Amino acid sequence: FPSYFTVIMLLSRLMAFIGIPKNDDVLSSNLEDLDIGSKLSRGPSAIASSSQDFGLIVKSVPQAVLFPSSPQDIASLLKSNYNSSAPFTVAARGNSHSVRGQAMAKNGVVVDMTWLNKNPNKIGIRISNDGKYADVGGQQLWIDVLNVTLRSGLSPVSWTDYLYLTVGGTLSNAGISGQTFRYGPQISNVYEMDVITGKGDFVTCSPNNNSDLFFAVLGGLGQFGIITRARIPLETAPKRVKWIRMFYSDFTAFSRDQELLISKNERADKNALNYVEGSLLLNQGSLENFRSTFFPPQDQPKIIALITKYGIVYSLEIVKYYYDDQTNATVDKDLQQQLQGLTYLPGFLFEKGVSYVEFLNRVRSEELKLRSKGLWDVPHPWLNLFIPKSRMTDFNHGVFKGIVLQRKITIGPLLVYPMNRNKWDDRMSASIPDEEIFYTVGFLLASGFDNWQAFDDQNKAVLRFCEKAGIEVKQYLPHYTTKEDWITHFGSKWNAFQQRKQQFDPKFLLSPGQSIFNSNS
Ligand code: FAD
Repeated sequence: FPSYFTVIMLLSRLMAFIGIPKNDDVLSSNLEDLDIGSKLSRGPSAIASSSQDFGLIVKSVPQAVLFPSSPQDIASLLKSNYNSSAPFTVAARGNSHSVRGQAMAKNGVVVDMTWLNKNPNKIGIRISNDGKYADVGGQQLWIDVLNVTLRSGLSPVSWTDYLYLTVGGTLSNAGISGQTFRYGPQISNVYEMDVITGKGDFVTCSPNNNSDLFFAVLGGLGQFGIITRARIPLETAPKRVKWIRMFYSDFTAFSRDQELLISKNERADKNALNYVEGSLLLNQGSLENFRSTFFPPQDQPKIIALITKYGIVYSLEIVKYYYDDQTNATVDKDLQQQLQGLTYLPGFLFEKGVSYVEFLNRVRSEELKLRSKGLWDVPHPWLNLFIPKSRMTDFNHGVFKGIVLQRKITIGPLLVYPMNRNKWDDRMSASIPDEEIFYTVGFLLASGFDNWQAFDDQNKAVLRFCEKAGIEVKQYLPHYTTKEDWITHFGSKWNAFQQRKQQFDPKFLLSPGQSIFNSNS
């Protein structure tokens, strides 16, 4: 029989191999002595799921995962960790839809935020008596916020394209979609938050109360604290929407029309559009990648012929909501006015009327389709950029018509749409270009497990092109690997960002996966 020591050694090798940390790693931090010790798991499935994300590119193994029953559990973990002589890093994990390990904590502790929902007394989704806002747990998915508020005929106004993301996760980035030009990003639509800082302090903050923490956290990439509650403004929910896509062969005409449409952006203006986006259609012989369910099957051959002719077709997408007092006819009349003077290709305007929920939850049907083909849980080497309007022509020329057409790596949607800077509050941590109008471009690529590097090489080529051409892009959902890049990213906000880090997380413990103050490799 093997000796006791041999068995222990073999067991420890096996544990290391399957990713279970050794006991002494955790014990060194006295985790087991905490009153939340019983809520920490080092089980293989907890560790495995916290070691990866939607991107399926990065793997970082934590020592343990906290399954909190309440925000107090999180505060307790952060407080004792902060006071410990050997603190570990901690990452909140929302729905883990980051693509580069941003919600991971190598050798640290991952806080599984969604576990909070198992507590019947959780911070759920509570609408105020006057219906002006909802108090929402940081772990809540936006789809649930939508479903609950709709029951009272209400809804938040600023969205992401995809709704299976947590409130805390999108508020740590920005939360953008076609509504941003008019309502601002999701981080511009928060009245108040409860945040547990890196020191373990539980703080309620708003623009007038602990405002430093409030603005730090919005777009703060999880660096300053863990959001456990956010107060989100609500408005009357529309019942239905009119949804239109128009095609262009010329980028100048496409972007001129997009910019014209987003110039009418008063929040209270009932005539303004509610959503403006855009995307590229590239020559792939089919419409599979382009949310094709939108286009009537009988029109698909002519669309494919158009793309084949031009190589790239630009698709402008708009939506107008309608409320109880509006009919199909009045909305159509309204839209006719908006469309006047636009220069899309004749015969290439497609429209449909759908329910508000069907529109907002549109990416879910794409997800289910991809899942059924085994194409959802694959690597996602995404690149999301913010680009100043003044350089979009150069970007179109060098990237869309250059790199993208040459390399032909286009599996996944390629989004392009403008936003207004004045809808963003400069006190927030989120970093955006200096110009009044800037574009977001999203290369939402999906690759195979053995070829994601080739996709990533295309991303690198895009970034190199921008650098060479002097186009000052900012990454959205940023992934930088050097301090210099982070300093450049935050630009004039870097000093404040650093000072706020010193104030709220001086030991650099939170969200190490962002690799801003710690290296997660
Ligand atoms: P996670 O990936 O779990 O976490 C992201 C970061 O936030 C991490 O640093 C984490 O530590 C931190 N964090 C998480 N929860 C909290 C909390 N409660 N408090 C403090 N920090 C926290 N983004 C858009 O803006 N618009 C879109 O249209 C859009 N569409 C998307 C579609 C898909 C299919 C996917 C996969 C992503 C999309 N995203 C979009 C990106 C998405 O908003 C971000 O990846 C977001 O971070 C995901 O939320 P999450 O809850 O999964 O966060």
